[in-house]
Amino acid sequence: MVEYDFPPFRPPNEASSALIRVTRGCPWNRCLFCTMYKTLSFQPRPLKEVKKDIDTAVHIYPRARTVFIADSDSLAMKDSEQIIRHIRTRFPHAERITSYARATTLMRLGAARLAKLRQAGLTRVHVGLESGDAETLAFLRKGATPQDMIAGGTAAKAAGLELSFYVLIGAGGKDRLTEHAVGSALVCNAVNPDFIRLRTLIVQHGSLLEEKMNAGQYRPTAPSEKLSEVKLFLEHLDVQDCELASDHHTNTIWVDTTIVYQGIHGMLPLEKNHMMEVLNQTLQRLSQARGEVLDATIMYERGMITSL
Ligand code: SF4
Repeated sequence: MVEYDFPPFRPPNEASSALIRVTRGCPWNRCLFCTMYKTLSFQPRPLKEVKKDIDTAVHIYPRARTVFIADSDSLAMKDSEQIIRHIRTRFPHAERITSYARATTLMRLGAARLAKLRQAGLTRVHVGLESGDAETLAFLRKGATPQDMIAGGTAAKAAGLELSFYVLIGAGGKDRLTEHAVGSALVCNAVNPDFIRLRTLIVQHGSLLEEKMNAGQYRPTAPSEKLSEVKLFLEHLDVQDCELASDHHTNTIWVDTTIVYQGIHGMLPLEKNHMMEVLNQTLQRLSQARGEVLDATIMYERGMITSL
């Protein structure tokens, strides 16, 4: 049996990537909505072990053209440059090497240190923006302000890295819907990420957010409100050469058993009008629906979706 430390999570678009676990868990681990690493204490892995895994990964993923570094915030590790160089050596044909990173980590590392990681072979960072609204970020205990998100994202871009921002639809609930949508667009405008990826918040069983929701401190949005939020976000977006993707099943909306929405996709600003049209048509369809309108939150509550 091959000994290999498979990371438990990766972004959806890294499904075909060779996965290299450099750390275990999340050094922050306090976001109210996140249950990913709740039972795990953060642990950097020894350089020797990681290098051994990279050597093994060449055989596990012989056709991989992309490599993803896990878990949630590995770039701050003292050995990260050496690890990335080793990945580059063992996967010489890799088209991209990417990692999750917290905005505060990118901010702390700064453009000069990030440029060294870029030179070593890192090409892209995936950052959970979640929201550009200060109150929403504080409520969710994200541990970063909109200014931190801008500073971290800007440092990554200045270092020559591609930047993928994840925006969490529903993060502000009913009460901060407008501020969350507009604030998130303004942070994206300030940084101009290469990718914006939308995923929809599901209040997971056992999460701290569920406790807040049960105490009436968070009011989740209905399916049509989620679409209105995406529309407001898109209306305020003013970015160039940026790909917007909704590459997660949590974005899906059904009428009875028919899927009527799977998110918007396209290049900005080129395809903005088309994406607005998709949203307007879906909103109209939902307003006239005779059947039951369902989103991933409702499906999760009913036990019809279990894995997020
Ligand atoms: S969302 Fe990211 S930063 Fe927050 S606890 Fe989860 S892994 Fe850590």
